[in-house]
Amino acid sequence: MTTSRIERVHAREVFDSRGKPTVEVEVTCAGARPGRAMVPSGASTGRFEAVELRDRGDSRLDGLGVRQAVRNVCTEIASALIGLDADDQAVIDRRLIELDGTPQKSRLGANAILGTSLAVAYASAEARGLSAVARFREIWDGIVGHVSNVPMDGGHVGNVPHELGTRMLLPLPMVNMISGGLHAGRQLEFQDFLILPVGATSYSQAFEWIVMVYRRLGRVLTERGHEGILIGDEGGYGPKLRTNEEAIELVVAAIEAAGLKAGSDVAIGLDVASTHFFEEGRYRLPSVSSSPLTAEQMVDLLDDWVARYPIISLEDPLAEDDWGGWKLITERLGNRVQLIGDDLFVTNVARLQEGIERGVANSVLIKLNQIGTLSETLATLRLALDNGYWPVVSARSGETEDATIADLVVATGAGQLKVGSVARSERLAKYNQLLRLEESLAGVAGYLGGAIFTR
Ligand code: PGA
Ligand code: ZN
Repeated sequence: MTTSRIERVHAREVFDSRGKPTVEVEVTCAGARPGRAMVPSGASTGRFEAVELRDRGDSRLDGLGVRQAVRNVCTEIASALIGLDADDQAVIDRRLIELDGTPQKSRLGANAILGTSLAVAYASAEARGLSAVARFREIWDGIVGHVSNVPMDGGHVGNVPHELGTRMLLPLPMVNMISGGLHAGRQLEFQDFLILPVGATSYSQAFEWIVMVYRRLGRVLTERGHEGILIGDEGGYGPKLRTNEEAIELVVAAIEAAGLKAGSDVAIGLDVASTHFFEEGRYRLPSVSSSPLTAEQMVDLLDDWVARYPIISLEDPLAEDDWGGWKLITERLGNRVQLIGDDLFVTNVARLQEGIERGVANSVLIKLNQIGTLSETLATLRLALDNGYWPVVSARSGETEDATIADLVVATGAGQLKVGSVARSERLAKYNQLLRLEESLAGVAGYLGGAIFTR
């Protein structure tokens, strides 16, 4: 018998940052304190994501309850895991996948499965007196072994530096300043207008710059007559603007008002989240054009913006099944900009593999609950690094105080983190954990910041 024998698996319904029910799981090893994890939840979800089980058809909480998922953890999942070794993350995750038996984890629920998978990692840490980051590092080393970053070939940007994935790193944060799309009442078609503090030389400096740009943006908005500004689901401002370009201009003004240089100090990223305005093969962007755009026109539009603004990152510029459009944008912009697949890849090894084979995108968003286990998430991260794709570890629009992704991004040395804005404590829980890690891992974890794009 090992020291990390699982003795108890328990779950309960708790609530996320939008007041929606979510799953919390506790796994306890013999003689140790419980390991605990909470599951996040998306709003602009991709069609190929693992399935979040909710009590649809139940009148309670408008059918959003997760009591069935909780029951699945307390009964079937508990019976399958009790007695197993929490140190064997790969074995546990395989067991969970087999037990569910469906392609998108729809039977037991990806929320039930992910909550358990993460709580097992925490239980193993508790049983052996390890910090979360140390336990994630151990798992990453175990699953991944040696990551070989293969230089990118034609059509892609430079090289993903060898340090990514091979050593612990504090991440370059990619932070939402203005929200649109499904996160802010559809005021704008594009979902996130983000900043990347590429010129900062440490995580804490990067974070201070972000806070100052956010503060100055509030002032700029007031000065320009935007009263009573809505705050979006991820803490970004949600002003009523006429065009997406106006949002970019406001962010550039805020960067300058903070005394920073737009481009070299702080660059811009967009999460277009275009799947949500893709209809019948066309992109509906009423603020740009009364007739929907073809993929080629969409690429022309973004190409023009990349030329006119300091944009270095575009997420989901084309829709989740528009492989042709994605191919086009990769050929046109792939050597100048980070092109992140979120809805396109859904943290899924098979979809990312298809993207690699087709020569599409050069970066992948990593969201634990899109795929549903820790092991599968790390497998996608590894596939990305092995093929010179930048990974960006990401929160969801519905979050909790669970800060797993902060420990995970440092442990894996993934290099970038996307959490949302610097308002609202479910976001700050992650940013503050990174400040603690920067202190406790001084001299151990590095910081590459914006240099991940230039080596
Ligand atoms: P979601 O949004 O969590 O609502 O899916 C985040 C994103 O699109 O990156
Ligand atoms: Zn996205």
